[in-house]
Amino acid sequence: MKRSSKADVVIIGGGIQGCATAWQLAQRGVSVAVLEKDTVSRHASGVNAGGVRLLGRHLAEVPLSIAAMKRWHTLDNDLSGDTGFRARSLINIAADEQDLDTLNKRQQLMHSQGYFHEQLIDVKELRERLPHVADHCVGGVLSLQDGYAIPYQATLSFKRAAQLAGATFYEGQEVKAIRKLGNDWLVSTHNSEFEAPKILNCAGAWADLISVMIGDNVPMSYSAPMLGITARMPHFATPVVGAVSRPLSFKQFENGTVLLGGGAKGFADRANNRTRLDYSLMAAGARNAIEFFPIMKTASINRMWSGLEAYMPDNLPVLGPSARSENAWHAFAFSAHGFQLAPIVGEIMADLITTGGCQFDLEPFRVNRYERKVL
Ligand SMILES: Cc1cc2nc3c(=O)[nH]c(=O)nc-3n(C[C@H](O)[C@H](O)[C@H](O)COP(=O)(O)OP(=O)(O)OC[C@H]3O[C@@H](n4cnc5c(N)ncnc54)[C@H](O)[C@@H]3O)c2cc1C
Repeated sequence: MKRSSKADVVIIGGGIQGCATAWQLAQRGVSVAVLEKDTVSRHASGVNAGGVRLLGRHLAEVPLSIAAMKRWHTLDNDLSGDTGFRARSLINIAADEQDLDTLNKRQQLMHSQGYFHEQLIDVKELRERLPHVADHCVGGVLSLQDGYAIPYQATLSFKRAAQLAGATFYEGQEVKAIRKLGNDWLVSTHNSEFEAPKILNCAGAWADLISVMIGDNVPMSYSAPMLGITARMPHFATPVVGAVSRPLSFKQFENGTVLLGGGAKGFADRANNRTRLDYSLMAAGARNAIEFFPIMKTASINRMWSGLEAYMPDNLPVLGPSARSENAWHAFAFSAHGFQLAPIVGEIMADLITTGGCQFDLEPFRVNRYERKVL
């Protein structure tokens, strides 16, 4: 006999998006059950690079990212938690004239849309802000509000705040089936059934499987972006660092360790919850870091890992209602930049679920945006 529980909303997935939405809903007096197949924060939300980045966003995401950034600056207070957020700024470095040209075009586009948070910096300012940058670098672009947070701390802060507001988390509960029972949804795991009028799919790299159970087919893929962290080094970089046209991304933490990313991907085995590293790509990423920061020659990498992340072909998330079923919503496929968006995703999803609308244009994020139109 399966245990059965009822809630107003069942959220599938205990990553940062599920936790942020649970917090928002619980604060509004909605009863929420979050079902997580492993443990909360076990996947992308707990192992990512922690980049809280507004710089360089796709235009469709800029309004959401601006709103999320505003919330990051007060989040510890709002959650009564410690997300590890530090506003250190972010600089994308231009390595040559072609990069400067790319930056100038982007600047014109951003200004034409009324966005002024990305500031071009010349070579003098680049060296003032990053004294260890290599001689060949010629300038860059800066976003002052950006920074980083500690992924598992941030996700667990959302979880704890949600629990304090009344949300219930069920770990080790893999959703195996979803069906309609009258006006409600019946969500089944190996030993339990959860009944709720409304459901939200926040299942990360497994979200396409949940989508199918709800009736939506999506061309989602998944992959395993990799990260590495060095032993402690003398302090040499305060801003988070990226590059305009090279796969470079790193941040130096207060304890001196340097987290190296850059988007290189390992091998993903989601059926078994596993990833495998591609060491040759990690080595190429490290060489890239040395090219931009010769001091990185002295670095020794202590640990490497990767996490499972969901992607859409346009690298934009799916956010909004199901195209096929009523009272079902999706928030997934953040394409390796969803951590920063979490505070606003939680608000958007709670608005949609409780009022049917939200203040943002979600058209670019429709679940069925890749469906062929029948003429
Ligand atoms: C290595 C790496 C570096 C990254 N760096 C950054 C960065 O610097 N900045 C940034 O903004 N973003 C970054 N990202 C992206 C960011 O981590 C993700 O976009 C974000 O964490 C997605 O959150 P989520 O809640 O949608 O997914 P997840 O954290 O994956 O959570 C989904 C959860 O759903 C659960 N689940 C799945 N199926 C079921 C089921 N059937 N039943 C119950 N539970 C289920 C899973 O177990 C999982 O815990 C990075 C990602 C990776 C992997």
